[in-house]
Amino acid sequence: MAGKNKGRCSFCGRYEDQVELLITGIDGYICNNCVEQAHSILREEKMLPKSDFEMTELPKPKEIKAFLDEYVIGQDDAKCALSVSVYNHYKRLMQNGKEADVEIEKSNIVMVGSTGTGKTLLARTIARLLKVPFTIVDATVLTEAGYVGEDIESILTRLLQVADYKVEEAERGIVFIDEIDKIARKGDNPSITRDVSGEGVQQGLLKLLEGSVVNVPPQGGRKHPDQKMIPVNTKNILFICGGAFDGIEKKIAQRLNTHVVGYNSVQNRFSIDKGNMMQYVTPQDLRSFGLIPEIVGRLPILTSLRPLDRTALRNILTEPKNSIIKQYIKLMEMDGVKLNFEPAVLDYVVDKAIEYKLGARGLRSIVETIMMDKMFDIPSSGAKTCKITLEYAKKQLEKSSPVGMMAS
Ligand code: ADP
Repeated sequence: MAGKNKGRCSFCGRYEDQVELLITGIDGYICNNCVEQAHSILREEKMLPKSDFEMTELPKPKEIKAFLDEYVIGQDDAKCALSVSVYNHYKRLMQNGKEADVEIEKSNIVMVGSTGTGKTLLARTIARLLKVPFTIVDATVLTEAGYVGEDIESILTRLLQVADYKVEEAERGIVFIDEIDKIARKGDNPSITRDVSGEGVQQGLLKLLEGSVVNVPPQGGRKHPDQKMIPVNTKNILFICGGAFDGIEKKIAQRLNTHVVGYNSVQNRFSIDKGNMMQYVTPQDLRSFGLIPEIVGRLPILTSLRPLDRTALRNILTEPKNSIIKQYIKLMEMDGVKLNFEPAVLDYVVDKAIEYKLGARGLRSIVETIMMDKMFDIPSSGAKTCKITLEYAKKQLEKSSPVGMMAS
């Protein structure tokens, strides 16, 4: 007989072996099913917060930026644009459902900046702060999708998953679309098919950006042909796009040059900072790069990231809350070892990152190469301190054949 001599749920009467979990109390038991049911009663009675993503207080743009400052060096323009946009996103959500005389429209963002300048980092950092579902998707998989591969709707699958399949939550979420430039129409691309797929993907994306009801495959992909689609309304989903837009500087320069001929020619010529053309990017340049005008129109906030100079790279090593150097110090500290770096080592790492043209991305691999042997030896050496000298750093890096790193 089921459950003889076994505990039994005091609420539904099921025996221990008929449920997944039976919790024992002083005078009785409760099974996992009844706990769940009790939880939904509390929720219905509004005795629980409505969701994990409920907003209690609204972080102001300055607070959002201050938070970003802890992790991301420089890039003030992008930080401000992101902060304002996310703040407005929150406000729009609060207005939702209420009678509004002025309906606030969403302002999707596009961030333009060379690779390794912090676009993804900004997006990831802001995600830590957010009280709405957030996901990062890569547009390159969509490029391939012209005929096979990921459909555009799969962008929302990820968001649904983050929101635990609560559609209402996903509909308030934020999606970061990385490498948006990769779906640009390529005017001079010899492959016609690829060109068409780029535009096809853009048309699909436009539907999401504009706000429409999209049928989303809950498991993504096409591996589950019989899955039931979930309709998701994208009207309130905020899209943040990022891309390196390689070569856009030329288009910007061309545009600026043609303008120089006009009235303000002298003034313009002197005020242009040739080292950072990206800062002059306008929606028009995105169009000449190959984004269709409708997409550009749906990304009203356009901001650029600066190339990282030597000072920025040096700061990235040590300043952010979870900087690479702080991470190594922490790792050693866990073994009771006090780690310190000669300042010259840090300058050397920056020099090498610049020399290898790896930018901020290279800093970590260089520091890792320098530290590898120490990380291996120190924990079993009984040492209490570890000092990394310039001489040691040079030796380690030279030994490790930097040729491979240069190629990457
Ligand atoms: P992108 O998305 O622009 O190509 P990432 O955000 O992925 O670049 O940056 C790569 C890595 O470089 C990050 O993980 C981070 O460690 C470092 N990094 C880049 N830019 C910055 C920055 N402005 N501040 C701090 N770290 C940065």
